[in-house]
Amino acid sequence: MRDPVAAAASAVTALVGDRAADWDRTGRLPGDLVRRLGAAGQLAAQIPAKYGGPGWSSADNGEFTAHVGSLCGSLRSVMTSQGMAAWTVERLADPAQAAELLPRLASGDTAAVAFSEPQAGSDLSAIETTVTVDGDSLLLSGHKTWVTAADYADLILVVARMDEGGAVVAVDRTAPGVRVRRVAEPLGCRAAGHAEVRLHGVRLPLSRLLGGGRQPLSLLVTTALAYGRISVAWGCVGILRACVAAAVEHAGTRRQFGRPLGRHQLVARHLADLWTAEQIAARACEHASRCWDEHDAGLVPAIVLAKYVSATHAAKGAAAAVQVLASAGARDGHVVARAYRDAKLMEIIEGSDEVCQLILADHALRQG
Ligand SMILES: Cc1cc2nc3c(=O)[nH]c(=O)nc-3n(C[C@H](O)[C@H](O)[C@H](O)COP(=O)(O)OP(=O)(O)OC[C@H]3O[C@@H](n4cnc5c(N)ncnc54)[C@H](O)[C@@H]3O)c2cc1C
Repeated sequence: MRDPVAAAASAVTALVGDRAADWDRTGRLPGDLVRRLGAAGQLAAQIPAKYGGPGWSSADNGEFTAHVGSLCGSLRSVMTSQGMAAWTVERLADPAQAAELLPRLASGDTAAVAFSEPQAGSDLSAIETTVTVDGDSLLLSGHKTWVTAADYADLILVVARMDEGGAVVAVDRTAPGVRVRRVAEPLGCRAAGHAEVRLHGVRLPLSRLLGGGRQPLSLLVTTALAYGRISVAWGCVGILRACVAAAVEHAGTRRQFGRPLGRHQLVARHLADLWTAEQIAARACEHASRCWDEHDAGLVPAIVLAKYVSATHAAKGAAAAVQVLASAGARDGHVVARAYRDAKLMEIIEGSDEVCQLILADHALRQG
């Protein structure tokens, strides 16, 4: 890790301490922690320096994301949302909008990105939320679900239908007509502030339409998801690193049948598989980040590959870690128990395993 990234990683380790399990149980991250990391620009560390952000590369931000992911899946999820919002603004906003919004996101305001709706999950072409121009303002109505970090967010980027195309609208959480309600008891990443967002005739200035709107819906979704997927993939590397550490420590110290668990070949195989999973996921993420940083034409399949490989390996790896720890890890809040629940969700979000497989198959067919 480069020095600034290592310094940020050790600062966040100290801030999280041993509290991640409590946050998971209570379903809340401390507001001051989120604000503090936001104010240091570390929730979205790729925001360029000209907007007040750290301007890290994807590779540096990825390593930092993995580190946070190894400590607390909920905090990493909030980072993913913030980074995805910042990247969406950077790509889609006009210069005046970027100059207003990006410094906010680099200095403590928090953000979420809302695509999903009750009838639009994997198929985002079914989005029904609509934005229209009404005189000299915008009118936004719809219902978004499962929006990560929405419960902490000052700003929600809402993907909506606009005429024949789509639009991303930057909505202040406090705008009249916006209602945010937490998702009760999610399976994992329980403190990530997942929420339903209802928008009832929300009236906003025209300047809240990123880039003027009326862009293809698929372009908007792909733009935001590019960041979301690579960030989730690095988060899964973090999950695997936490699982390797816990499983190795336990297998080296717990003795059964007269020797350490790790000296029983069937347990050793779990350790080998877990370590292999971490290595494969890390290499896939490094490759995707290299493509991002070098503007490589193969970026999109590299990101989808990293997300798919990392999520599937994290889910399998976390299950193996629970198996190695057995009863020692089978309680709420334990690092491998959290990893097991959090990793399963990573196979669903930002393009489920199946959606990733469809994209990769399409890529393979076009290559052939
Ligand atoms: C923890 C968590 C965080 C989330 N964060 C956000 C967020 O920040 N913002 C946001 O907008 N949304 C968010 N979501 C929503 C998430 O993006 C959707 O859950 C996801 O896209 C899947 O949609 P769905 O749950 O409606 O499942 P469905 O689309 O109903 O799919 C159900 C199952 O069918 C499979 N499937 C669907 N279509 C196909 C097909 N054509 N071929 C093969 N299999 C298929 C899916 O892979 C899945 O296994 C989050 C969800 C969760 C659980």
